[in-house]
Amino acid sequence: MTNAKENLQRKDNDVKKERTRKKPVPKKEKANKIEEKTKKEKKTTLNKENKISKVREKREQGTVKRTRKNSRLKEEVRMKKSPLKIIPLGGLLEIGKNITVFEYEDEIVIVDCGLAFPTEDMLGVDLVVADTTYLEKNKEKIKGLVLTHGHEDHIGGIPYLLRQINVPIYGTRFTLGLLRNKLEEHRLLNSTKMYEINPGETVNFGKIKVEFIRTSHSIPDAVSFAIYTEVGTVVHTGDFKIDYTPIDGQKIDFGRLAEIGENGVMLLMSDSTNSERKGFTKSESTIGEAFDELFAHCIKRIVVATFASNVHRVQQIIDSSVKYGRKVAICGRSMEKMIETAVELGYMKIPQNTIIDIDMIKNYPDECLTIITTGSQGEPMSALTRMAAGEHKKVSITPNDLVIISANPIPGNEKFVSKVIDDLMQIGAEVVYSSLADIHVSGHGCQEEQKLMLSLVKPKYFMPVHGEYRQLIAHAETAEKIGIPHNNIFIMKNRKST
Ligand SMILES: [Zn+2]
Ligand SMILES: [Zn+2]
Repeated sequence: MTNAKENLQRKDNDVKKERTRKKPVPKKEKANKIEEKTKKEKKTTLNKENKISKVREKREQGTVKRTRKNSRLKEEVRMKKSPLKIIPLGGLLEIGKNITVFEYEDEIVIVDCGLAFPTEDMLGVDLVVADTTYLEKNKEKIKGLVLTHGHEDHIGGIPYLLRQINVPIYGTRFTLGLLRNKLEEHRLLNSTKMYEINPGETVNFGKIKVEFIRTSHSIPDAVSFAIYTEVGTVVHTGDFKIDYTPIDGQKIDFGRLAEIGENGVMLLMSDSTNSERKGFTKSESTIGEAFDELFAHCIKRIVVATFASNVHRVQQIIDSSVKYGRKVAICGRSMEKMIETAVELGYMKIPQNTIIDIDMIKNYPDECLTIITTGSQGEPMSALTRMAAGEHKKVSITPNDLVIISANPIPGNEKFVSKVIDDLMQIGAEVVYSSLADIHVSGHGCQEEQKLMLSLVKPKYFMPVHGEYRQLIAHAETAEKIGIPHNNIFIMKNRKST
């Protein structure tokens, strides 16, 4: 078992755990220490139990009077609560495959179950999921899987988990909408129980309760969690940024976060993606202005590539198109599916007669057309990559195209994206990407937003999550600046595969 299995109920002086960065403890030694500690803890508990049973025996024999010392002892044993175990199976020291186990006594609640994309050295691998052996071994304890939002790094692993364990799933409306599509593809829809939870509601699993709290991110309906157990409250932010002017008007629930903070939070687990960046992440609504500027003066055909799941970005591309008299064609299966789901569930509004079939684009002049496409990461098989290579069946790029790449390359994809940009430029197209114009904002908060989260929640302990090692460290430094003592900050690793 890794050090992730922390007993968070321990007293302050027990938590003198140095961060590995400062004073690395050899693994073996660490394991021994933990083992020793557990033995010690077990021993103390056993001793106490022995004493109690001896006292009880004697009392039954009428040989012991009820003394203050005995009742204190009894009280102490009664007060000894079980530890809350938090076991990250993925998502630490990496971006991707987020999955965390919360285990309290005989109950387990899982937060998210994502996938990661393979790195270059994983030849022949399509996707990577976390090792869920621990869950399989503790199947009977699992009460449910709660989802923060519908990105692949949070829900992509679910079909693979469901093949091992049939677990009920709790998520917000849009998250479950996306999950439904996924489960349908994997023929798991009928066998899976799903419960729609609104932000503000709490799911009572028994000894563990999970409150859904609205947050903002680059996908609708994202939530943070407050996880309640007898030993204290844990706040898990999920992925978040602080957007004061979100497209759907649904702001992060500052009031509730502050209230929970006021009531006392034992541990905060917070998104570290942008922890190296100073300042704030701009609001999604600033992108609309940038699009308007580009669209207003353009007499070419416009091709925009972005993430399919960024529904509000796609909405803004459609809004600018409508404003400047353009029809919109959709390219790429995931983009089509996402728009269909978002419209169906009421997360996107598209005026009638705006969308045209991609086969009909030849009937419209270039200046009256926008094509929204997948491939903003230069993925080899994606629509934009094929267009750039002149291999797309329905769209041929010409010098009369303005191509906007409304995304930043995810680390590792830079090479692919540059190749696509080069190819498009060689054809003679005009290409605008995020280093040239403000056509992309992140879905994750920067340092000032992370500080605000820490200040609202006011946790006793802090555990940066959702990031590579350097990002976790940067987030830990931010937390120290806010006043969280160094020894109360945990830099964790994923649980090792068995
Ligand atoms: Zn996300
Ligand atoms: Zn994420």
